[in-house]
Amino acid sequence: MKNKLIILGSGAAPGVPSLGTGFNQCNPENLKNIRMRTSTYLEFSGIKLLIDTSPDLRTQLINQNIRDIDGVLYSHSHADHLNGIDDLREINRINRQSLNFYAGKQTTKDIQKRFSYLIASKKTTNNVILRPSLVANVVKANHPFYIKGVKIVPIKMVGHCPECLGYVFNDGEYVHIADFKLLASSAYKMILKRPKLMTLPLTNIRGAVQHADLGEIMECVEKINPESVIINHMSNECDYDEVNRLTPENVRPAYDNLIVEF
Ligand SMILES: [Zn+2]
Repeated sequence: MKNKLIILGSGAAPGVPSLGTGFNQCNPENLKNIRMRTSTYLEFSGIKLLIDTSPDLRTQLINQNIRDIDGVLYSHSHADHLNGIDDLREINRINRQSLNFYAGKQTTKDIQKRFSYLIASKKTTNNVILRPSLVANVVKANHPFYIKGVKIVPIKMVGHCPECLGYVFNDGEYVHIADFKLLASSAYKMILKRPKLMTLPLTNIRGAVQHADLGEIMECVEKINPESVIINHMSNECDYDEVNRLTPENVRPAYDNLIVEF
């Protein structure tokens, strides 16, 4: 069985074009430079997952006709990764059941505080047609958890926000990294196989206090040595062709609705 990754949104928080600075460094003629905010769909060993819920989630799910998911993984609670969470109520309605989400302790607290009305009430069966119903599952860096028997290990990212998690699937077959400055040294130890595919966020080429620059991303790629890399989460300072030109053959920039089988 082939695994499948769909980049639902390849943009950083303001999207491209952004309201303030439009296409900026991006060539507006290239449709690959039009970017929604970040969510990723993953079919892996028979399970269907969403990683982060962008404010553009409704459009993204409709574009790819995604109606059925086994769970949602959150990297962190910044608005561009989370605020489309309300759109999950349609998944509740279609499947007529609650939906599990998985997040670190702080991210779970933030979700419960900011979106309390979405959380399934304890000990009662919610009528998912009338109200949304998400079930929180707290996960911890370096501690594996399983969804339908598939092993997933959260890994710790440093320097972006107090708690930001990446995810390692089946000991490294697929590795998903969201916003980060550095990977914790413990994170590298959780990647036991050479990844077939890895997703990394760029934001902008020269980096920022809370975001790795292209050099730091390439150091990470060299250490982990995946077969193939998708560069994601790009602002309007990252032109598609330029990122492609600056990176080796096995590293390529994402665009909205890019589908990769691996
Ligand atoms: Zn962030």
